[in-house]
Amino acid sequence: MSNDNKNIIHDFDFNLICEYFSSTERQGPGSREMTLKALNCIGIPKPDAIIADLGCGTGSSAMILAETTSAQIIAVDIFDAFLQKVQQRAQAKNLTIRTLHSPMEKLPFAPESVDIIWCEGAIYNIGIECGLNLWHTLLKDGGHIAFTDATWLTNERPEEIEQFWQEAYPQMGTVESNLKLIKKAGYRIKEWFVLPTECWTDNFYLPQRNAQTIFLAHHKGNPTAQMLVENQRHEAEMFDKYGQHYGYVFYVVQKI
Ligand code: SAH
Repeated sequence: MSNDNKNIIHDFDFNLICEYFSSTERQGPGSREMTLKALNCIGIPKPDAIIADLGCGTGSSAMILAETTSAQIIAVDIFDAFLQKVQQRAQAKNLTIRTLHSPMEKLPFAPESVDIIWCEGAIYNIGIECGLNLWHTLLKDGGHIAFTDATWLTNERPEEIEQFWQEAYPQMGTVESNLKLIKKAGYRIKEWFVLPTECWTDNFYLPQRNAQTIFLAHHKGNPTAQMLVENQRHEAEMFDKYGQHYGYVFYVVQKI
């Protein structure tokens, strides 16, 4: 199939995407080690601190934050099925996580009420510039944002991968352009680092293989479901082939 025939994941029925991903532990590249590395750049949150995990998915980061801090964790997403999974996972480990159904671009938080905004693999939904501007007023003085986003790592890219991301995420920036956006939105950069390859391969694409088998069996003969799986497989192939040109970058920033 040529690239022209590939739909980008965002075009699919959201309920199908939600079902596909609700069986996986994480819905984007990442790892426990990288979440803790970013948290370490911020320091130990106060026991009464509020951490909002935006676009929490099934709770990969929220669980780690709840396990390793005494802060109040609020896991935010627009899919109830994901939020229910977060609750199940928290209860299974006897952890307290508050879930909130809200779009990240219209959060019900009071100004200057949040200590840390966490956002792994989800800021692309509204774009870095929009997210950082909107969330600035919600953060307390000196509050932090820790987010990951797909980022170009090289200046010269083969046409095939340039085209792929042009369709999937046209606003994807370089580290340099993103750092500029961050400063312009009123934050100081505390740290940034590139997520290691296994955050994509072992932790994101590999667990999807099992999810794909179950999903396809459940949706036999459904061309949309078939297409969704093909797109996810294609994305994984693109990473195998061109992963040196882009990656997820963790940006840890502080409100000035
Ligand atoms: N943070 C999780 C999930 C990343 S996938 C992880 O790293 O595993 C992106 C998540 O953003 C999905 O759960 C999706 O439902 C959520 N999302 C998409 N648009 C959103 C919006 N406007 N507001 C809040 N969450 C959104």
